[in-house]
Amino acid sequence: MTQGADNRVAIVTGASRGIGRAIAVELAGEKYYVIINYKSNDQAAAETLGRVRAAGGDGETVKFDVADTAEAERAMEDIVKRFPVIDALINNAGVTADNLFLMMPEAEWDSVIGTTLKGFYNMTKPVLKRMLRQKKGSIVSISSVAGLIGNKGQANYAAAKAGLIGASRSIASEVAKKGIRINVVAPGLIETDMIKDAPVEMITNIIPMGRIGKPEEVAAVVRFLCSDDASYITGQVISVNGGMM
Ligand code: NAP
Repeated sequence: MTQGADNRVAIVTGASRGIGRAIAVELAGEKYYVIINYKSNDQAAAETLGRVRAAGGDGETVKFDVADTAEAERAMEDIVKRFPVIDALINNAGVTADNLFLMMPEAEWDSVIGTTLKGFYNMTKPVLKRMLRQKKGSIVSISSVAGLIGNKGQANYAAAKAGLIGASRSIASEVAKKGIRINVVAPGLIETDMIKDAPVEMITNIIPMGRIGKPEEVAAVVRFLCSDDASYITGQVISVNGGMM
């Protein structure tokens, strides 16, 4: 299948698994052509594409490390060349490398900050240039409750996720008059591979709803923020966390 003339186009980073996959499938339900980025897991990315098609959309998988400027530049040059309009960018790719700050080696600091913030820079810049030309578009970045309140053992992750909020709010105000909206979604604890080693039972006790969230519950908010129903929303952070804080 190829992109239909009436398809909108969305790029979702880190879409081979977890929240990114749910976002890809959710947007496919709205007939988006979804560009499914991922770093290494070919089989999982292919499965996301299968689910995107089953949901009524179409798309393709594109493997590159969002934090690697040369790789990302090459991939984005090709995407921008092939797609005259890019309607949505979802900066979702993220990693954790938890440690108490004083025990944290530089590599753990750099990998988390790099994936999130260099990734944001590498993806948002080319897409924003295109969106400014087309005078429309929506960019949504996936932060975290840790970016709002911090979290013991996650100084790198919290810094990266808070950075996404600061960058998004700043750029949102730079382009607000140009028809481009830039928002952030801050999930709480969501059932994905990322939290497989987390003490879920203990954390569940501090979630007012008494349960962890599903990737689809984050994806639904992203879909809304990309839609015209969110036409007056920019520079905002929407928490999806079962009532935490
Ligand atoms: P996940 O299940 O671990 O999936 C991570 C995804 O990101 C995978 O598709 C992975 O690709 C991709 N990825 C990692 N590094 C990348 C890179 N450098 N370039 C391109 N893709 C990369 O994580 P998740 O739980 O779905 O998390 C998605 C986002 O939500 C992250 O930003 C995370 O910080 C945020 N978040 C998650 C939770 C939670 O509780 N799960 C809570 C708050 C915020 P491969 O499959 O190829 O490795």
